[in-house]
Amino acid sequence: MILLDRVTKVYNRNNTALDRVSLHVEPKEFVIIIGKSGAGKSTLLKLLTREERQTSGKIVVGGVDYDKLKDRDIPLLRRKIGVVFQDFKLLQNKNVFENVAFALEIVGYGNKEIIHTVPRVLDIVGLKGKEKNMPMELSGGERQRVAIARAIVRQPKILIADEPTGNLDPKHAWDVIKVLEKINKYGTTVLLTTHNQEIVNKLRRRVIVISDGRVVSDKANAEYRH
Ligand code: ADP
Repeated sequence: MILLDRVTKVYNRNNTALDRVSLHVEPKEFVIIIGKSGAGKSTLLKLLTREERQTSGKIVVGGVDYDKLKDRDIPLLRRKIGVVFQDFKLLQNKNVFENVAFALEIVGYGNKEIIHTVPRVLDIVGLKGKEKNMPMELSGGERQRVAIARAIVRQPKILIADEPTGNLDPKHAWDVIKVLEKINKYGTTVLLTTHNQEIVNKLRRRVIVISDGRVVSDKANAEYRH
């Protein structure tokens, strides 16, 4: 599903953000990516969403070779990959329902489909009954779950969660992680970056460690020690 073969990203001559990274993620896997600030995690995710292009190496996602990708194919690619960020990025002037519905409106879904789909997704993330709340009226954990609902409403094959618990207290953080696990159980590949050691150790999933742009460890059921 995701294949990186000796992928290098050089932003400028004296800064190699990723250095010959090779990895393979199977469909429906749950993978945690860890590494210090500046290690190259965000760069890796940006290459997958095609916000950045690799300097060399091969990237294939869902059978699509990124070297052969045309500009007009990028929106379709991005529909296959949902993304959530540390800072939620919700639209403050829209309520919960509207925030999720917006992701469907912009790609041309009709009202009927929206009314059918949004409540189902809000149910998955545990926000039934909060449809009319504004983001300001929600806890951080709830806001992140709105962001997750928005990211999965178009049924992406892959969900990228870039430090989704970075702004949350432990209880809310764990609620968010449980939602990611649920989505993964339904069949979506999840890539999670986190600095939270407790979450890594509780999850017991595959952990890829990136350091100075290289994969220095890649283990199943891994624990995380400093
Ligand atoms: P992480 O997400 O692990 O904190 P990043 O992928 O953001 O790491 O950064 C990896 C390296 O690439 C760092 O040295 C960072 O300064 C550099 N970098 C990231 N984005 C850019 C950019 N747009 N231009 C130049 N250098 C960048």
